[in-house]
Amino acid sequence: MNYKTVVFDLDGTLLNTLGDLTDAVNHAVDPLGVKPSTEVQIRTRVGNGAAKLLQRTLDANNTSGNIDECFKRFSEYYREHMTCRTVPYCGIMNLLERLKKAGIKTAILTNKFDLAAREIAKHYFGELIDYTQGERADTPRKPAPDALFKIMDMFGSDKDSTLYIGDSTVDIQTAKNAGVKSIAVSWGYCDRERLQDADIIVDRTYEIENIIFGIDFKDLETNFIKRGFEFKLFDTKEQATDYIVNQCKGKSVGFGGSKTLEQMGVYEKLKENNINAHWHWKDEPIYMDGEVYLTSANGLSKTGEIVNIDGNCNRVAATLYNTKHLIVVCGVNKLSASLEDAIDRARNISAPFNAKRLNKKVPCVTTGKCEDCMSPERICKAMVILMNPPTNMKCEIVLIKDNLGY
Ligand code: SF4
Repeated sequence: MNYKTVVFDLDGTLLNTLGDLTDAVNHAVDPLGVKPSTEVQIRTRVGNGAAKLLQRTLDANNTSGNIDECFKRFSEYYREHMTCRTVPYCGIMNLLERLKKAGIKTAILTNKFDLAAREIAKHYFGELIDYTQGERADTPRKPAPDALFKIMDMFGSDKDSTLYIGDSTVDIQTAKNAGVKSIAVSWGYCDRERLQDADIIVDRTYEIENIIFGIDFKDLETNFIKRGFEFKLFDTKEQATDYIVNQCKGKSVGFGGSKTLEQMGVYEKLKENNINAHWHWKDEPIYMDGEVYLTSANGLSKTGEIVNIDGNCNRVAATLYNTKHLIVVCGVNKLSASLEDAIDRARNISAPFNAKRLNKKVPCVTTGKCEDCMSPERICKAMVILMNPPTNMKCEIVLIKDNLGY
C-alpha cells in the first residue's frame, strides 16, 4: 500500500503528555478543594478534550464547579507549562524523519485546544509535521471525520492512501467515520483491550514503519538462512497450517504453549489428520519426546535471532535439546528491528500479556512493562536466544503475513 498521508493523534500517540496534563488539571481544580490526581488517574480521563477531562476529574472527586472557570485556569497554566515534562514516545522522532524523507505528508489531528496543539507540535516536531489541527469552534471534534477529510483534501490523498494513527477509541471511530485505515498504538492512554476495533494494533513504532514501508522479506530470509535456520513465508495462517500438517505426517509432535498455534488451530488440524500430536494446553501431559516440536517465539529479530521467555521452561528447553525438528511459527507482529528490540518485545510486550492472561500477581500486569520482579509467580524465569540451530536439530521459521499471538 502506498500511503501519501499519515495523520496522528497527539497526546498518548506522539507525545507522553501525562505529566504536564496532570499538573495543569491539579492546578485548575485546586481552588475547588479537589485533592491532586495522579498520572494514573488522569490517564483514564483523557481522550475527549480538556473540558471533559476537567469534568471527569470533578466527578471523580464528587465536586461541582464552574467548568468554564476551571478550563480558563487549566488553559493559562498549561500554556506556560506544557513542555516541562512532556516527551515524544520512543521511536517517534525516527518514524517522523523517515516519513519526511519518503515525502509522505504528516498531520496531527487532536481534540486538544488548537493553540496549544499547534504550539506543542511546533516545539517538539518543527518541520517534521506538515499540519496541525486541534479543537476549534468551526469544526466538529473527533470522532467526527470533518477535520480528517479536510486534511486529506489539503494533501490530495484519498481514503486508501491515508492512514490514521491514535491511541484511543475516539481515534479508531474517527478513522472508521472517514473510511480510513486505523492503527491503534498500545503505548498510550487506553488499555489494549479497548483497542480491538482498530484495523491494526501496534506495540512499537517499528511496526508502523513495517506497515507503511513494507518488510524486506528477502533480506529477512537471507539473515535466517545465513544462521542455519530454514525459512518459509506464507500469506495466510491456513496456508501455513497446511504446510505444518505436511511436515508432521507420520511423526510424533509436541507443542510449546502458544497463542499463535492456538489461533491457527494447528493441534485440531493435526488430530484431523490422525497425527500423533500432544499438547498440554489440551489436557495432556507436557510432551517433549516428539520428533517435531512446534512453538512460537516472543520476538524474531530482523538480524535472524529467535527470542523466547518462559516460566515453566519446558518450551524453551525443547528449543535447545532433544528435538529433531523444531518449527517456530510466528506472525509478522513478532518481527523486531534488532536483537535488542526482540528482547524488549519478549520482556515488555509478550511477558506482561501472558502474565495478565494467566492472572498472575506480578507488577507488569498493572504497569504493562517488565519491572524485573522477584515474585514466585514470575512468568519469565529464563530467556533463550537462538542464534543458530542447536547441534543436530533441524530448525525452521514459519512466518505468516498476519498478526498472531503476542
Ligand atoms: S519479571 Fe515479573 S514484572 Fe517482569 S515480565 Fe516477568 S513477571 Fe512481569
